[in-house]
Amino acid sequence: MAPRRYGPLSASRARALAPLLARVERGLDTAARIGFDPVELPRRYGAPADQEVAGLFAAALAYGRADLFKPQLERVLAEMGASPARFCEAFARAPRPGAFADFRYRFNQPADVAALAAAVGHVRVLHGSLGDRFAALFREEQAAVVGTRPPHARQGGALRPALARFARELREAPPARALLTRRGPRGLAHLLPDASLAGACKRWNLYLRWMVRGPDAVDLGAWPGVPRSALVVPLDTHVARIARHLRLTRRTDMTWRTAEEITESLRRLDPEDPVRFDFVLCHLGMSGACPLRSDPACCEVCQLSAACRGRVRRAAGSRRRPAPPPPAAATRADSSGG
Ligand code: SF4
Repeated sequence: MAPRRYGPLSASRARALAPLLARVERGLDTAARIGFDPVELPRRYGAPADQEVAGLFAAALAYGRADLFKPQLERVLAEMGASPARFCEAFARAPRPGAFADFRYRFNQPADVAALAAAVGHVRVLHGSLGDRFAALFREEQAAVVGTRPPHARQGGALRPALARFARELREAPPARALLTRRGPRGLAHLLPDASLAGACKRWNLYLRWMVRGPDAVDLGAWPGVPRSALVVPLDTHVARIARHLRLTRRTDMTWRTAEEITESLRRLDPEDPVRFDFVLCHLGMSGACPLRSDPACCEVCQLSAACRGRVRRAAGSRRRPAPPPPAAATRADSSGG
């Protein structure tokens, strides 16, 4: 038997897939889909300072069901008032242990959210903005991997350690630790996972996509100091499944390595913007257009079918039936994970 081949998409398949994904992207009702996506909340703010703070809370809490975490997130942001950035800076200087008392969501309690606010404020007071601090860490890590080729590998190689250091600085911010003396660090560690571990860190990579790409109809472009070519795809179950259908990877684990391999395939479609199609791929799954259980009715109308090895055909003689409706309250967060 021939050995099973792993690795990114071939150049010829990439050439065939790129126009198909671009067509799906053009046909997507982005404005409508934003309502199902946690980026909806940071998009309500006009100033980059507030976008980066609201975005971090939205990404950190984007695990589980959106209809459960979004009301909690709304409550947290409402308590922060008109400017989450100003709130966090003031909170870092004078933390209040009783803050966010009404918040409750799965693995997290009010003290975790208060600690996150204090940590964000602390980093902003020290470095001017979260984006400035992340960009500085990224540049340091890039300098450390000089000599690695090609250049995009240098950037990709710098992103993960920069992210691990960024998360550690937030987790270890003195005002945050002071708020967690009774609660302990686990809740905050769940909100700010460690990118040096094996997990795909979906929520971190989602946050980076929002901050670094754009501004456009989806992403915010609040961090111009970080190149979008360095981004890694936010790997959730929708993206992982459709990526396998499209031969972007053959890996089945939800790890950083799989996210990198999918990104490497997508880089062959657009080297400067490898996560350009992440929103499209994810919302194909979330909307039910490409359902979890392959459905001939969906594949028949799918614009990716020519490049998809997961497509199923209607059995001869079977009657046409409509595509299934989208699953209720489905979001990319349904896949949870880091
Ligand atoms: S052809 Fe079918 S399985 Fe493939 S992406 Fe489209 S809907 Fe999904």
